[in-house]
Amino acid sequence: MGERPLPTNEAELALARAAAAHRHESLYSERAANIKQSAVRDVFEISLRPGLVSLAGGNPFLQSLPLEKIGGMAYRIITEDGLAALQYGGGQGTEELRAQICEVMAEEGITDARPENVVVTTGSQSAQDVACKVFCDPGDVVLCEDPTYVGALNTFEAHQIDVVPVAMDAHGLVPEELEARIAELQAAGRSVKFLYTIPNFNNPSGISLAPERRQRIVDICRDANILVLEDNPYGLLKFDGTPHPTLRAGNPEDVLYMGSFSKILAPGLRIGWALVPEHLLRRFYLASEAVTLCPPTFNQLLISAYLDEHDWRGQIATYRSLYAERCAAMLESLADFMPEGVEWTTPDGGFFVWVTLPEGIDTYPLLQPAIEAGVVFIPGAAFSPGDEPSNKLRLAFSAVATDKIREGVRRLAPVLERAVSA
Ligand code: PMP
Repeated sequence: MGERPLPTNEAELALARAAAAHRHESLYSERAANIKQSAVRDVFEISLRPGLVSLAGGNPFLQSLPLEKIGGMAYRIITEDGLAALQYGGGQGTEELRAQICEVMAEEGITDARPENVVVTTGSQSAQDVACKVFCDPGDVVLCEDPTYVGALNTFEAHQIDVVPVAMDAHGLVPEELEARIAELQAAGRSVKFLYTIPNFNNPSGISLAPERRQRIVDICRDANILVLEDNPYGLLKFDGTPHPTLRAGNPEDVLYMGSFSKILAPGLRIGWALVPEHLLRRFYLASEAVTLCPPTFNQLLISAYLDEHDWRGQIATYRSLYAERCAAMLESLADFMPEGVEWTTPDGGFFVWVTLPEGIDTYPLLQPAIEAGVVFIPGAAFSPGDEPSNKLRLAFSAVATDKIREGVRRLAPVLERAVSA
């Protein structure tokens, strides 16, 4: 076979790439065609521009972590136990970390969790993906709150799942709406697999599910033979330090619970977990292993050392008061600057405030003028399936100092004012 000459300059390289892109277009799976570019990622990149106040990204504030101490632990793990730390490990995660994760969950009232039922995952994002692999075929239905976490929507869409949003009000997911959606879907012969829910400080709305609705939601799903996937990465970040009860606590058979170290320690370690009902464990664990072989060994050992040697409860308390202060600054600034007709939620924990403009205003076209005014937010449409415009927007207070939060809201106000009075 004659050798093909390699491109020698930029123009030839660009031509070769374009030709390959054309040839390979037909190779994409339908799944890949379903994966949308995340609006959050686009905005995240913009928000790194100097001078902008980013109220967009829900990044945790890491500056108060004991970095030197963590560095010492990392050094010790590698020098004393490096061969194990850098080796493959068990697919379900280390025994030590799974036992410690049970202690973390006990802080939010899950007192009966056993390490054997914990599957350590690559962030809770991969627990969502594994759940889709285990339970959903293309065309199956998953229910979620409207609005919901954009990363979960992307995962569901990549699995060709039909996502059906269920309305929320100021007290969270509305049980009657859930019942009605399930009845309609099941009457139409649709296969509804699970409800994906973020009961505490929902991302993006900041709303928490009212206590009296919690058991009812699980009962509705149980009666309809639908699993509940409870996603609770912010659970321990309730500002007053008294966590909301989890759906899992009283329902070990019907709720698959997902947790994460991303918001209480560090998202870059990419360690989350699933607490899986006994009867679902084997399939879940095998599917997780098929994706990652094993969760990162070194990162698990590091987290174990951190939990063992550092006052992690105190660290979470520090985060709680920091986020409470930032949330208060955001709410006060909104009250001071927002025009008539704009409303917002009052979260009791987590990272986000959800702002509602009058009906009929689409917040997406307001992003560019906001960037020009020096502030970034995430338009509400990102948090629902489909392409419907939204009169909402998400503001994150977690990663921004209080004076900047105030400045960001001050910059945003005239942009919204123009839209409201147009
Ligand atoms: N669920 C929710 C509600 C989230 O907000 C996030 C992260 N923003 C995740 C899951 C993913 O977390 P992890 O870093 O553990 O993958």
